[in-house]
Amino acid sequence: MVPNRRAFLTATAVGALAAAPATPAAATPGPSSRPPHTAPAALDALLAGNRRYATGRPRHPHGDRRQRHVLAAEQRPIAAVVGCIDSRVPPELVFDQGLGDLLCTRTAGQVLDEAVLASVQYGVEHLRIPLVLVLGHERCGAVAATLEHLRTGAPVPGHLRLLVAEIIPAARRTRAVPGDWAEHAMRAHTTWVRDAIRADPAFTPAHVAAARCDLGTGLVSLLP
Ligand SMILES: [Zn+2]
Repeated sequence: MVPNRRAFLTATAVGALAAAPATPAAATPGPSSRPPHTAPAALDALLAGNRRYATGRPRHPHGDRRQRHVLAAEQRPIAAVVGCIDSRVPPELVFDQGLGDLLCTRTAGQVLDEAVLASVQYGVEHLRIPLVLVLGHERCGAVAATLEHLRTGAPVPGHLRLLVAEIIPAARRTRAVPGDWAEHAMRAHTTWVRDAIRADPAFTPAHVAAARCDLGTGLVSLLP
């Protein structure tokens, strides 16, 4: 994580975001199918949606024209997902959620930077999102690139250095662990990202969890 990230999140910047009205018109209540706006309810909704996705019975909720009109006046996502850019792990599909349900911030290897943190803070502070879920996945390319760099010592080109630098600590911690190094590193990195968000006072109002997505089964499981 870049060392000055907290300094970046000034009260002025957040205040300017908060000044942008999320409810320019009288808020219309959302569909009754939405869960209560609490962290346990949001987590239940995500895991239930994931079971639908994994078993091939997705509902693709909240995607109709009425929903679009409701959301034009107000958005109230139930969770902020910090996930990987991998094309096989799109949160709205993996959790069978729809328009207005998730605030997704995605970077390769779900690494944090100031833009990610500011985006999630906006969701927690201004949109009152009760749950932040950090989502890692198996066979992550960013983790693989990091392990390759550690194995070979080959220089990491250009902007990719930021990704590798963020994942290296977890990769080093798990190098001697028996079994699948990439899997261990992914889990360690994902829980580190969760813990970094948890430890930041900006996210105190939210419950922060970490999870792993299995590419083969599609199932998401919470990480301890
Ligand atoms: Zn990935």
